[in-house]
Amino acid sequence: MLTIDDQTQVRCSCGAVVLTLRGAPIVSLVCYCDTCQEGSRRIEALPNAPSVREPDGGTAYVSYRKDRITYAKGRELLIDITLDQRSKTKRVVASCCNSALLMRFDDARHWVPLYRVRFESNPPAIEMRICTSFLPGNVVPPNDVPSYRDYPGALVMKLLRSRLAMLFR
Ligand SMILES: [Zn+2]
Ligand SMILES: [Zn+2]
Repeated sequence: MLTIDDQTQVRCSCGAVVLTLRGAPIVSLVCYCDTCQEGSRRIEALPNAPSVREPDGGTAYVSYRKDRITYAKGRELLIDITLDQRSKTKRVVASCCNSALLMRFDDARHWVPLYRVRFESNPPAIEMRICTSFLPGNVVPPNDVPSYRDYPGALVMKLLRSRLAMLFR
């Protein structure tokens, strides 16, 4: 179990962008929703982009509290990918090598999902699969962890608990 003093580094595939994460993540999950599928597809279509999706089409994220993330190097190389101009969700890519790094929300949400493929050594274990109702009818997600058709209460509770913890740092 990681403590608040542990640091994890996440970098783009060429190493020009480095982020430092402090402590343990809030949650590590795979999302199958239509916008994650589309967002990952768009990123993978960029020249020489490293793959983002799991073999079954899901995208794995490791979410951290916003205040536990430091942009250590190459922040100026980051670009936003927006699927819909009205959306508050931006997918952030390192323009040096088109690696997907994280999702950013233009609202009060206190967490940042980072693309799990960027946790090269020892990525946090996946805890749940969500929005599986977007999978084609003939595709069954792996049953190694709990799967949910939408956003489960278990996830909402984890996010709420981390928001409360943030008030006390
Ligand atoms: Zn890079
Ligand atoms: Zn999603």
